[in-house]
Amino acid sequence: MENLQNSQVKFYSGENVPLELHKVRMVQKLFLKPVDERLEAMKTAGFNTFQLSTKDVFLDMLTDSGTNAMSDNQVSSMLQADDAYAGSQSFYRMEAAIQEVFGTKYVLPVHQGRAAENIVSQAFIKKGDVIPMNYHFTTTKAHMELNGGTIFEIFTDEALKIKSNVPFKGNIDINKLKDLIKKYGAEKVSFIRLEASTNLIGGQPFSIENMREVRKVADEHKIMLVLDASLIGENAYFIKQREPEFKNASIKDILLTMCGLSDLIYFSSRKVSSTRGGGICTNNKDLFLKMRDLVVLYEGFMTYGGMSVREIEAMAVGLLETTDETVISQSPSFIAYLVNELDKMGIPVVTPAGALGCHIDAGGFLPHVPQKEYPAGALATAFYIISGCRGMERGTISSVRDAEGNDVLADVELLRLAFPRRVFTLSQTKFVLDRLTWLYKNRDLVGGLKFVEEPAVLRFFMGRLDATTDWPQKLVAKFKQDFGNSL
Ligand SMILES: *Cc1c(COP(=O)(O)O)cnc(C)c1O
Repeated sequence: MENLQNSQVKFYSGENVPLELHKVRMVQKLFLKPVDERLEAMKTAGFNTFQLSTKDVFLDMLTDSGTNAMSDNQVSSMLQADDAYAGSQSFYRMEAAIQEVFGTKYVLPVHQGRAAENIVSQAFIKKGDVIPMNYHFTTTKAHMELNGGTIFEIFTDEALKIKSNVPFKGNIDINKLKDLIKKYGAEKVSFIRLEASTNLIGGQPFSIENMREVRKVADEHKIMLVLDASLIGENAYFIKQREPEFKNASIKDILLTMCGLSDLIYFSSRKVSSTRGGGICTNNKDLFLKMRDLVVLYEGFMTYGGMSVREIEAMAVGLLETTDETVISQSPSFIAYLVNELDKMGIPVVTPAGALGCHIDAGGFLPHVPQKEYPAGALATAFYIISGCRGMERGTISSVRDAEGNDVLADVELLRLAFPRRVFTLSQTKFVLDRLTWLYKNRDLVGGLKFVEEPAVLRFFMGRLDATTDWPQKLVAKFKQDFGNSL
């Protein structure tokens, strides 16, 4: 009973319903504004969904970062927080939870995932180093490059295919890894980075089989293996679902296996434990000591690392709950429902369904919008205008410019609709499906975007854009024609 998953529950009708295995005990009222006001809000936001105010948003599908629902046990744990600058009992409880779930002895607390990336990059990357990985994450890449490293994405050929039934698109291509080490020399490789549920390519997992092979290569060349565990719960869930060897394994054993193959693990607990904060963990004392002083310098004392002790308490409980299949199966099963329904209707979407959100293929949705006019950004703004739901651009706007000032075109143009854990209901999911269906029918009305103000670093956060034509007005006119005065 403890590890019930909704795939075990059958409906007499035969329908595949992602049943909620929790009850909602605290709610937040939402508003859905009229379409004209949504258009105005989008203009004020500079056609960038990061710049919207939540007062204008119905379903906030921007991210699963820091937006997940906490459990009753997490909320109640916050009351026992031990307020202390040094030696807080809250920290020791969190450390014990990490030892149990990840199996690592040393724990460094940090205020969020990118803070861990700052410390790991400063401690281990030298100018001219190379860092092979399955795929980058925006903040990861920024920190590594800031420290003089160059990243190499050595994913398999299947990774960037939108439609696929390969279960582990997050795997590293072992031959590419070997070639890279041969080319640059092992001493130039700071470490190999494996990201659980590879965020930017659709939340796609890697297999333990692949991780073992990576480990073997790392051992041969005495290179460290670093695991970005921000989305480790879902990766473990997919391993159980998709990797035959682990069909009957417990999530706890899978997590310990993944962590046991790593030299160093870091994570954003804004995701993995549904709270805030983050951590770096290892069993290697030398590695721990190389990073410790940086924690005190950038984050705070060793027993809080920039987090409040309340957050640390909830993080400890959240990490322990990651071993519960009932908890970690919720978000993936809602994502799978939406992905499979969209796929049935021929709406281009990344398959198989992954972690953290549903990833619409904006390139396939809007083939008439050239990549330099940012189809994923255009789809994100269009979808907000016609639904009040906010997603995130994961395409060329999230990329950078080269030395000549040209856009480095993204490998894939995706609109990500995140499913914060245990936040949305099935009828809300059906609303998203309904509006996407309407937008797909009317996709010819959607045009491109151009930058008006463009920051040099991580431009997708603060950048301001505009529509290339008056297409948003035309889209609104068609919406009113079809929906009348309805929202
Ligand atoms: C979110 C995320 C990060 C960064 O974490 P923050 O807490 O947002 O700073 C790093 N890696 C991955 C894989 C992530 O999903």
